[in-house]
Amino acid sequence: MNESNSYRPDVTVIGGGVIGCWAAHYLNQRGCTVTIVERDSIGSGASTGNCGYVCPSHVMPLCQPGAVLHSLPQLLSRKGALSIPLRLDPVLWRWLYRFFWNCTSSHQTHAAAARHDLLKLSMDAYRDFLRHSPIECQWQDAGLMTVHRGQRSFDAFEQVADHLQSEYGIRPDRYDSSQLAEFEPGLIEGLAGGWHFSGDSHLNPSQLMSGLKEKLVQSGVTIRESTEVRCLDVERGRLRAIETSQGRIRSDVFVLATGAESPFFAKPLGCQIPIVPGKGYSMTYQIDASQTEHGPEQSPPPRTPIIFEDSHVAVTPLGDQFRVGSTMQLAGYDRRLDADRIKMIRDDAQTYLRYRLPNTPISTWTGWRPMVHDDLPCIGRSPRVDNTYVASGNGMIGLSTGTGTGKLIAELICGETTSIDAAPFSLKRFSRES
Ligand SMILES: Cc1cc2nc3c(=O)[nH]c(=O)nc-3n(C[C@H](O)[C@H](O)[C@H](O)COP(=O)(O)OP(=O)(O)OC[C@H]3O[C@@H](n4cnc5c(N)ncnc54)[C@H](O)[C@@H]3O)c2cc1C
Repeated sequence: MNESNSYRPDVTVIGGGVIGCWAAHYLNQRGCTVTIVERDSIGSGASTGNCGYVCPSHVMPLCQPGAVLHSLPQLLSRKGALSIPLRLDPVLWRWLYRFFWNCTSSHQTHAAAARHDLLKLSMDAYRDFLRHSPIECQWQDAGLMTVHRGQRSFDAFEQVADHLQSEYGIRPDRYDSSQLAEFEPGLIEGLAGGWHFSGDSHLNPSQLMSGLKEKLVQSGVTIRESTEVRCLDVERGRLRAIETSQGRIRSDVFVLATGAESPFFAKPLGCQIPIVPGKGYSMTYQIDASQTEHGPEQSPPPRTPIIFEDSHVAVTPLGDQFRVGSTMQLAGYDRRLDADRIKMIRDDAQTYLRYRLPNTPISTWTGWRPMVHDDLPCIGRSPRVDNTYVASGNGMIGLSTGTGTGKLIAELICGETTSIDAAPFSLKRFSRES
């Protein structure tokens, strides 16, 4: 149980993504006066067009033994979901070097345990929040299916399933080819099988973000959109004020929650924030009722969120819409929507679906996952600037870990005993890298 003391500072949260908004919520709940400063609008970064999975099953970090070798075919293929356009970028090369050195079984064990704690805390917090303050966000407890086209990869997943069960009590259910076709009639026949994680959920991230914004405003949080933070005024180990496009803002405490763009503030904070943007795409389609309702040859889109393991494409049912997402491009701060890539992802998804995806989505989107080389988020006080905290680097699980990250930050700022061990997320872990 948390013990709270009476420190309730004024806090300015920089960045109105899912992490900044949850941090604002938990700080406000504790009686802090909170302002969110957002350059564009709430959720305009990576937090609305994502796949909407709240997935406590995603315990394993990307850096694991053999990860580099395993990724090579993806990297060498033009169609690969993972791509790293070669360029002279010392930040990227340094990041890749560190990632490579984190691909050990000891780091995997350490990171998985910390991710498990944060994911579990977050799922409990989501359920608790939605029970008390319902937001219409299409929350569904449909689980998450990972589908394998080939028998070898399907069978090999058994080892992962055993490991997840023995270490973390997460047991996916095995569906062989015919069971999978029965479970999910929206899939083509002939796939090797799937593993279903029944403890996972999904939601509509745009609805979550707009509902959360409304709740924050109702509960007294000030939200300043179209306000870009341009400079940090640090003096003698304290952040005195931030200079923004709308003037200077002072505060007792600041939280940096600018996602993939957090490294731009590392220098004034005198610390390492080793995050690179992992660009991903999503397309949202309107479901064509004529394909699902009429005739014996009905072909509904899947009702369950699914990750197609062989092509790293993910699909999410969102009411009368359907989202397809994929790709991890370490391509720098590039927001371009590449039409060929969009078509490639759509065509990839189509090869698994009986439902005929329209050629044209109702929306296409790209966002930057904030990727840290050890695949653990950065949650904690800046080592050199006393009144500034960082909440960033949640990588591929930022939506899933938003509540837990926000809660931890609020507990740290208010001097409470933290719900889980915060040490694995501390920025101090990068100090020896400078
Ligand atoms: C294709 C794709 C699919 C994904 N699917 C999932 C999923 O299913 N489940 C899951 O858990 N995660 C998923 N993710 C990851 C998740 O979306 C991210 O981890 C998460 O959104 C990161 O949130 P954030 O608040 O840290 O960053 P952001 O959402 O990027 O928010 C940062 C905010 O800071 C603002 N900002 C930046 N600089 C400044 C400045 N100078 N001044 C003021 N404001 C500033 C930005 O405008 C932005 O709004 C996915 C990501 C992608 C790309």
